[in-house]
Amino acid sequence: MKATSEILHEKLKEFFGFDSFKGDQEAIISHLIEGNNTFVLMPTGGGKSLCYQLPALVMPGTAIVISPLIALMKNQVDAIRGFVANRDGIAHFLNSSLNKTQLQEVKDDLLSGVTKLLYVAPESLTKEENIQLLRQCKISFYAVDEAHCISEWGHDFRPEYRKIQPIVNEIGAAPIIALTATATPKVQSDIQKNLGMSDARVFKSSFNRENLYYEMRPKVNTEKEIIKFIKGNQGKSGIIYCLSRKKVEELAELLNVNGIKARPYHAGLDAATRSANQDLFLMEEIDVIVATIAFGMGIDKPDVRFVIHYNIPKSLEGYYQETGRAGRDGGEGQCITFYSYKDIQKLEKFMQSKPLAEQEIGKQLINDTIAYAESNQCRRKTLLNYFGEQYTQENCGNCDNCLYPKKQFEGKEYIATVLELINGIKENFKADHLANILGGVNNSIIKSYNHNELEWFGIDKQKDSRFWLAVIRQAIVLQFLYKDVEKYGLITATEKGNKFLEEPYSVMLTEDREFVNTDDDDDVVSIGNAKNQRGGGGDPALLAMLKDVRHSLSKRLKLPSFVIFGDPSLEDMSIMYPTTLEELKNCQGVGEGKARKYGKEFVSLIAKYVEENEIDRPTDLVVKTVANKSLNKVYIIQSVDKKIPLDEIADAKKMELEQVYDELEAIVNAGTKINIDYYIRMIVDEDKVDDIYEYFKEEATSDSVNEAMKALGPDYTEEEVRLIRIKFLSELGN
Ligand code: ADP
Ligand code: MG
Repeated sequence: MKATSEILHEKLKEFFGFDSFKGDQEAIISHLIEGNNTFVLMPTGGGKSLCYQLPALVMPGTAIVISPLIALMKNQVDAIRGFVANRDGIAHFLNSSLNKTQLQEVKDDLLSGVTKLLYVAPESLTKEENIQLLRQCKISFYAVDEAHCISEWGHDFRPEYRKIQPIVNEIGAAPIIALTATATPKVQSDIQKNLGMSDARVFKSSFNRENLYYEMRPKVNTEKEIIKFIKGNQGKSGIIYCLSRKKVEELAELLNVNGIKARPYHAGLDAATRSANQDLFLMEEIDVIVATIAFGMGIDKPDVRFVIHYNIPKSLEGYYQETGRAGRDGGEGQCITFYSYKDIQKLEKFMQSKPLAEQEIGKQLINDTIAYAESNQCRRKTLLNYFGEQYTQENCGNCDNCLYPKKQFEGKEYIATVLELINGIKENFKADHLANILGGVNNSIIKSYNHNELEWFGIDKQKDSRFWLAVIRQAIVLQFLYKDVEKYGLITATEKGNKFLEEPYSVMLTEDREFVNTDDDDDVVSIGNAKNQRGGGGDPALLAMLKDVRHSLSKRLKLPSFVIFGDPSLEDMSIMYPTTLEELKNCQGVGEGKARKYGKEFVSLIAKYVEENEIDRPTDLVVKTVANKSLNKVYIIQSVDKKIPLDEIADAKKMELEQVYDELEAIVNAGTKINIDYYIRMIVDEDKVDDIYEYFKEEATSDSVNEAMKALGPDYTEEEVRLIRIKFLSELGN
């Protein structure tokens, strides 16, 4: 079949409402309509779907579209139906989510030839009954979308994709169009081989996304940086990718606490919540979606203005796909990644449980990612080079390395020293051990090997072990050293390394200081508070005055001082200088209730102090912390409201009772009032309740449970003391 350009443009307008084709679309479409195998390599957002949707609508027969995600099929089908009024049968999907009636409808429409486009999940395609059904249809062509799923070298390998070719043969031959946004030469050849389409014409667009800005940031104060960034980009839509579901939930919560409209998205949420959150994002009811990589494939929001990676992805393809969701409309798209070597180690750890062959591949993909992250080359150049494309411009002017070149230093001597050390000690060691030797760290492991006696021990007084670790990591990326992930990450010299040692040459290394000393993201979400800064950061004069205020208030109200504000709260105040009750709530352990009840004197003191001493208050953003990182908090509060016994709450959440107590303590410490009298009545003797309560009110000098136990004697259990303490703190504190 042939279709003139005129007809194609007419259909483009009629079905999709567009006036012109994007990039290679027209050439691709004509090629396919003429009955040829076609291979489309186009970056995310390039407009791949149209390359098979339009031909499907104009060619006789039904086009089979194989696509990996069930959730997306429905969207795509709905979109097609939207183009073509009153002919719902024109597009269908076939997957495991259909019930009997729906399935029958699909069959009827297929057999009567109404259906032009049938989306099929690869799992469903392998089912015998479906193969039989499709054998009876006239197939116009097969489209394999997200075709990189065929390759183990892609970022999303799906074994079922390997079965596509034999099944296509069974159903009946027709042209194939394969489409992907992953274009490393290896993936490309895997796809063509596997689909038996080596003859296909390859349409490869440039992968350069000029409008995207790439930046790597050290993973320090990450949450705070993210909040600052979003607040500096008010009203813009963005996606934040995290590695774990837990982090997704925590971060979404933290953003909300800080006045940013955000929702979580990950595969652990039920389908209804997931799609509700996705819709909120698409409809711009919220600005930010915090997600695992489960989010995004096929998301067609053209004006996503930023994509933040909280964790670095495990491959550059993944990175490129995910960042590619920014700026699809050609407008602004900022891609910020928070990089830490710890995250790399995590990725490596995940991989150790995988089959060896997979590990081998995974290792190399990660190494490419590290090289990208730590490189001081133009990011665009590195990425495009990775996709087999030459980028000749010297300076792209739209990545951190081009805009803010990093300092470099001559690394010749340092790399040589590392290699000498490795050759000098007979056994192999891990990177940090080697770095500790060179940096002169005299710890017990070093001593146990007598490595503190080596000539390389503390070889350069100016350089510490961190410096050496950075040299070693870059030497790995530059392939002077090899790190064997299977052997616990032991480091050996490579052939290239040994050649270098014979005849060292100039190698520029990047100053890498910024990428060490990073956050541990398993940490509690707690930034911008005293936790990181305590001991030295605060203003001692102010702290002493705040303690005086607390003391007199405590006497006046006849309350122990810890009930009013704990020491950590006062320390926070002496760092952040809050002068309004609103600001005060940003301090650790200060909730709504406490701020209102006791805060006034503190903030007016601080305001006066700030003025008299002409203090520059931190103009920096103050981040409100999530008091309790647990996701169970809300559940527990609601259950307590319903007077559900705490042990039942524990069961329902598969927690230990102890943990529920921990949560409750965190809740009251954060300033939320809760009433657990119903439970106390069930398990603690009334007299004991009074005794313990009195103790905290009259005798206690701190809120320590241990001290209370000592003072009260052996008749009171820890459980009892903790429960009453929760009651006490909630009633008096909040
Ligand atoms: P890909 O699958 O390559 O990531 P999509 O097929 O989802 O990209 O298309 C990306 C966006 O480009 C969509 O919003 C789509 O409607 C739009 N688009 C596709 N072709 C055209 C065109 N010819 N003119 C204008 N917009 C187009
Ligand atoms: Mg697509």
